[in-house]
Amino acid sequence: MYSEDQYIQLSALQHYLFCPRQCALAYLEKSWSENLFTAEGRIIHERVHSAEVEKRADVIRARALWIASARLGLSGQADLVEFRKCTASETGIRLPGQTGRWSVFPVEFKRGKPKRNHSDDVQLCAQALCLEEMLDTRIPEGALFYGKNKRRHVVQFDETIRQLTEETTLKIHEMMENGITPQPEYSKKCKACSLYGICLPRSVGRKGAVSNYLNKIIEESP
Ligand code: SF4
Repeated sequence: MYSEDQYIQLSALQHYLFCPRQCALAYLEKSWSENLFTAEGRIIHERVHSAEVEKRADVIRARALWIASARLGLSGQADLVEFRKCTASETGIRLPGQTGRWSVFPVEFKRGKPKRNHSDDVQLCAQALCLEEMLDTRIPEGALFYGKNKRRHVVQFDETIRQLTEETTLKIHEMMENGITPQPEYSKKCKACSLYGICLPRSVGRKGAVSNYLNKIIEESP
């Protein structure tokens, strides 16, 4: 069990899977820089987080729910959690002031389109693990809503994604505890990285690279 001061943010998982150094710069060194991608993402989240709870027919939607897991040492806000009324044969949780049982279905809003890697799935699965611990239930699936195609993509929380989520969480805790920011590894994804200007992936960590970089700046200066 982790204490609250050790909790890491849910969003850190997605950053770690994109690049461990980006995660360390953002959450360990607390450097942040906004580019077009993060600005769009922030606006989507601000819109989502401006509403509260609504009930329509057999679905209750709760937005901007604070969630946490002491077992995994995670906390953050869930964009949207849907509570769907169960049929007689389904199992679910009880909700205050409501009759019957309800299943739990987290939905995370993302800018852009579905990614090839599992980073968004892992962040959503981490939300499910927090909700499972808080509500003492099992959540088999959730959905990612992408701004680009405005569609929901259902994510099954199978053992593989659960394991990847727990392993990633553990690695981030180790990184935070060790306090060591990984060295950069320049690749194609660096071009879309919001921390490129802070990371300097082509300059840091290579022998002579910093002096070459400084020489280049001096040469190019008027
Ligand atoms: S610029 Fe590249 S190496 Fe540096 S943090 Fe971003 S993705 Fe990682």
